[in-house]
Amino acid sequence: MANVLKKRIGVHVGTAGGAWTAVERAVAAGANTFQIFSSSPRMWKAAPVKAADAAKMRDLRVKLDVGPVAIHASYLINLCSQTESVRTSSEAAFRGEVERALALGAEYLVLHPGSWKGLTREEGLRLAAESIEKAIDGLPWQGKDFKILIENTAGAEFSLGGKLEQVAELVERLKACAPVGVCLDTCHVHVAGYDLVSPDGYIETMMVVGDTVGFEAVKVWHCNDAKAAMGSKLDRHEHIGEGTIGAEAFRRLLHDQRFGHAVFIAETPVDAPGDEARNVGVLRALSAG
Ligand SMILES: [Zn+2]
Ligand SMILES: [Zn+2]
Repeated sequence: MANVLKKRIGVHVGTAGGAWTAVERAVAAGANTFQIFSSSPRMWKAAPVKAADAAKMRDLRVKLDVGPVAIHASYLINLCSQTESVRTSSEAAFRGEVERALALGAEYLVLHPGSWKGLTREEGLRLAAESIEKAIDGLPWQGKDFKILIENTAGAEFSLGGKLEQVAELVERLKACAPVGVCLDTCHVHVAGYDLVSPDGYIETMMVVGDTVGFEAVKVWHCNDAKAAMGSKLDRHEHIGEGTIGAEAFRRLLHDQRFGHAVFIAETPVDAPGDEARNVGVLRALSAG
């Protein structure tokens, strides 16, 4: 029972009123881990973290036993863009993301690898790795409990990371110069064409996970059901158990001991008040039974 209660299950929450308020929102949703944006995910400009806010967040997290904390990087960032000015802006924005994550004491910063449109996939991979290395140069991440997590994507054309081999390759290139791990998103895995739903398909998909990124590197599972079909490449999140993935696949994942070290965070839609708590509750119930 203790293990079940200790399992880290959470949800993406808002930060209106300051980043620290996310801790209270997470707890109110029944979560003991959570994800936030540290700035508006659709704007280049971002305010630095206030020291008082960061201190409040640390204190509340200790008091309420909440963590780890993941920050999701801005959607504007494209570190493998063919356009140099976009890459330069992306590097500066990503540097800001890392600075804010470190200031807030977040353990994880989740990043989409980017779009290599106009280039080759190989060139995109090289640029993404180089840009990340440049962006974090000189920042005080060494010795900290902090990792940049490369997230797998839905596999849309030109988007890097639809195939787990690509995520693994980027992580491999970054290992020497950055603290790096992996975030896998159930919806992205499913719509990219990997089977999580049938018992045999799950076994096969997890063999691919083991052979590419490896189980230990997966620090966060984004738990999202999917509105679209497996292999559709359409990234539309759905409430847990109400989409094309279904509750059983989440039960299997939550009980998979190869991810015993990982945390599970929903990025499900908020269609009605209480939806965050409802999805956390469903994940918690599936992990318990
Ligand atoms: Zn995700
Ligand atoms: Zn998504």
